[in-house]
Amino acid sequence: MPRFDVVLSTDRSLMTNHHGKEFLGFGTTMPLILPRRFIQWLFCPPIRHRDGVVWQAPYSLRRAEAALVAAGIRAAVIDPDYVPRYVADGARVLIVRHHDWFGLNPPTSTWTAFIDKEPLNVVLFREFIERVRKLKDRYDFKLVVTGPAVWQWLHKPHLVEEYGVDVIVDSNGDREEPVLVNVVRRLLEGKRVPKYIKVGVPDSTPMERMVPIMHASVNGLVEIGRGCPRRCAFCSVGQRPLRWYPLDFIEREIEANVREGVDSGILSCTDVLLYGSSSVIPNPEAVIKVNKLAKSMWRSVGWSHCTLAAALVNRRLVEDVAHMLIDGEKQKLLGVEVGVESGSVEIMRKHMPAKPRPFPVEKWPEIVEQAFALFHENNIVPAATIIVGLPGEREEDVVATTELVKRLRPYRSLIVPMFFVPMGPSRLGREEWFRRIKPYHVDLLMACLDHALYWAERLIDEYMTEKRFAIVRRALKWFLSRVKEYRPRVEEKLRSFAES
Ligand code: SF4
Repeated sequence: MPRFDVVLSTDRSLMTNHHGKEFLGFGTTMPLILPRRFIQWLFCPPIRHRDGVVWQAPYSLRRAEAALVAAGIRAAVIDPDYVPRYVADGARVLIVRHHDWFGLNPPTSTWTAFIDKEPLNVVLFREFIERVRKLKDRYDFKLVVTGPAVWQWLHKPHLVEEYGVDVIVDSNGDREEPVLVNVVRRLLEGKRVPKYIKVGVPDSTPMERMVPIMHASVNGLVEIGRGCPRRCAFCSVGQRPLRWYPLDFIEREIEANVREGVDSGILSCTDVLLYGSSSVIPNPEAVIKVNKLAKSMWRSVGWSHCTLAAALVNRRLVEDVAHMLIDGEKQKLLGVEVGVESGSVEIMRKHMPAKPRPFPVEKWPEIVEQAFALFHENNIVPAATIIVGLPGEREEDVVATTELVKRLRPYRSLIVPMFFVPMGPSRLGREEWFRRIKPYHVDLLMACLDHALYWAERLIDEYMTEKRFAIVRRALKWFLSRVKEYRPRVEEKLRSFAES
């Protein structure tokens, strides 16, 4: 077994490749309404490893690992079940990263608002950190927690002590890796490190100091840029400065995946259609180049996110890229997350006036419908988010969103409602949490559920065509049949919840 001074890890809800299907990751946020073993196997099975050194790991852990190794520090990403062995074997720092430590982020917090069961990811993290706590009693190592969601620890300060956290690196900025290297160096040298370190939002690491990942990331996800020019008020990610990575950097990260047998991947950023642009107008040449590069190295290519407005600015670009990626053999669909957020022009004007740009905000509902139609015709499948309970929301805003969701029924997609969460680094970080569900919210939630039930079954067949997915496909269909069966009870429960 190799020895490391620094071990990076997280719980099983993130240390998994979700059977190679990234969308299944959503399932880890679900409350345990079905037997845990089944849900855990379906949504976050263990990842392959050798002596605990994992084959694929969350991208952000890979970035931190690469920066530490480049600084001459012996570090590796380790499976959560093997952390005790490496700590016992002399690791002196454990770095844990998560994007929803206590289930406060959507969609986890949306479920828990009305379902009286703990979500799987919350249970898995608690079990993991409790194991770490026990290890701290036996071995001498420092625990560092980091990532954009560490604001959640500030909501639960008693747990910082209870779980023995030594350092919190609050990094919504882009300078996390160099800061982490400094922190780790000081800890290894036995020097004092402040308990809380804030990495400022406007900070960004110069390109020449960025280190590409050395090993495979979960489902081949590689970042192609950071930041967003639209700066919606509720969003923490969009507060980072906009920057795009050069093609050779992206190529090295894809190579790291291909070398270790990950033959498909995901281009990740806030808007793949804006790659290489410094505004909200796509740069077609750059978008084609980055997708062409990815397709030349991978069997199939997914996008993490894009915006509906950017798609409509240049329809031809969307058609050309879809045509290039979706060859009908190795790849039949292109999945992407998009933000619909609201069907109300007033809400858009108030909290995200730049989201529809370069189109006027009054056109937002039409933009959504037209972009969904464009995606449908080109086999692009959006998983869209809706935000319920934004500050200042009125009944007519929610009704407008429900009507929009119903009009989107003909287009192949999933629509996920999320309750507003005042995330620490966002501009709405000091607003009230959404807690008052009204009957008109229930109408919207049910419209989203009906949309998902209508499309999910069809998508399972189109999304999981390979023979090796036969069992997972069958399990997902069974799971869906249970959700369908429960649908009337879900509605009844929501309505009584809204009335009370
Ligand atoms: S468009 Fe998306 S990523 Fe950009 S600020 Fe808005 S919500 Fe955030």
